[in-house]
Amino acid sequence: MIAEVLGPVLLLPLDQRMSDSATIVWFRRDLRIDDNPALAAAAARGEAIIPVFIWAPDEEDWPDGAASRWWLHQSLGSLQSDLARLRLRLIVRQGTAADELQRLVNETKATALFWNRRYEPKIIVRDTHLKAAFQTAGLTAESFNSSLLFEPWTIKTAAGTPFRVFTPFWRKCLAPGEPQPPQSSPQRLKPPRQWPESLDVADLQLEPRVRWDSGLRQSWSPGTEGAARELTRFVAEGQAGYSTQRDRPDHSGTSRLSPFLHFGELGPRQVWHAIRQSVRQREPLNQDAIAEPFLRQLVWREFTHHLLYHYPRTVAEPLREEFRAFPWQENAAGLRAWQRGQTGYPYIDAGMRQLWKTGWMHNRVRMAVASFLVKDLLGNWLEGAKWFWNTLVDADLANNTLGWQWTAGCSADAAPFFRVFNPVGQGERCDPEGRYVREWVPELARLPAKWIHKPWLAPQEVLTAAEVVPGVTYPQPIVEHAAARLRALAALATIKAGRTKVNE
Ligand code: FAD
Repeated sequence: MIAEVLGPVLLLPLDQRMSDSATIVWFRRDLRIDDNPALAAAAARGEAIIPVFIWAPDEEDWPDGAASRWWLHQSLGSLQSDLARLRLRLIVRQGTAADELQRLVNETKATALFWNRRYEPKIIVRDTHLKAAFQTAGLTAESFNSSLLFEPWTIKTAAGTPFRVFTPFWRKCLAPGEPQPPQSSPQRLKPPRQWPESLDVADLQLEPRVRWDSGLRQSWSPGTEGAARELTRFVAEGQAGYSTQRDRPDHSGTSRLSPFLHFGELGPRQVWHAIRQSVRQREPLNQDAIAEPFLRQLVWREFTHHLLYHYPRTVAEPLREEFRAFPWQENAAGLRAWQRGQTGYPYIDAGMRQLWKTGWMHNRVRMAVASFLVKDLLGNWLEGAKWFWNTLVDADLANNTLGWQWTAGCSADAAPFFRVFNPVGQGERCDPEGRYVREWVPELARLPAKWIHKPWLAPQEVLTAAEVVPGVTYPQPIVEHAAARLRALAALATIKAGRTKVNE
């Protein structure tokens, strides 16, 4: 097992490594200095610290998509600057994690290797093998929790099983009290006398060759400074209105913290306590009407990680087994129209274009566009999950997988499949004045609010005044929603009846 994991190069004997000892801190999805338990534990050893990042996309369950790679490139630059202020460098490597760590151990005489845990299935297997192999070879190898409020294996039902319903999960998480406060930042970090070799971040070629990323650059400042700014903005301006504004994509009523949380530029403990301290620290959470709705969402993130941890097969198949037989349909033209924001439903198209331009989409709109793909078009949820994976800056295996399965009705505690979002009704409810559609579908900008979510029904004089020509300046709907809904329900009936053919 050790040879298999560590490869043929043997570690130097421990006594040869002790002379000028160092601790390696392996940065992964914890790209920050503050509240970073692996870094704090390394600092406490008093040895020189070697921070390292290893680019190993082949070892991922789902290798990072284009928008995530763009974000990662910026974030590694930010981490380098944060470390430089502490007289440390980020050693950047590319290859298999086992080989690169082993090389670094030999090059630096490290006696310890620390990292913060990740929860994706393949990564858990890899890291478990690595830890055992390094420990067997005489190193101190330890992992810590930086990215979740509650470890997935510590939250269990009375029967000792994983939770599949959110509200009891939420209650169980908080039964012992609120999450631990964030750890203070390490003050003194010792650099090594000599640094090992490192690639430049640019060598990883994470940024796109064809520069399609101007919208991402305008929308985001990846890294810890950008994360702190976004959190401060939300605490000061956003959270008081969160419970009323969070369903309004036409307002910036949510925190937009998701990519920072995904890459660990901000940890959930930091977010939790910033929110609680800013409001009414001493009130019990269930009486804190301002903080509670937001913190529940933060615990949805815990729930998706809990489900992924306990049901690792969900990265590729539905949690509810009966959905394996669901008659998803291949519809290349429909999928392409959906991806490009050309479905003829303005609210859906606005969401898909916001995603393409900025790498992010409001949660309400994510649910509506996902419902449109899996129900109106009968597209497989995995097709949608893959597109999101490539285009979202916050693409996260737990949140994305469960977000898609929730909408498709095939996850735990999911929206039932028969609840088909109406793309017009959703737009009228969540974007009543049409501001969101006007921003992202400018060819409809001059339509009055009454018709903006259903231009095909607008009287000719309204269309003429707004310079909209259905089918020319903006597509006609690619499906008729009422008929598509009935087709989706018929498809559902086939799996309920144990049949797999859709009755057209
Ligand atoms: P806020 O409302 O401010 O919430 C704060 C934080 O709580 C978020 O940053 C996020 O970390 C967490 N959170 C909020 N809602 C959810 C939720 N429903 N599930 C899990 N965590 C949540 N989120 C991702 O981070 N990455 C994804 O790849 C992703 N894919 C999704 C796919 C679909 C089909 C759906 C329906 C949802 C998906 N979500 C995903 C969840 C949610 O849409 C985003 O977390 C949210 O829109 C991020 O915006 P925010 O930071 O302003 O959220």
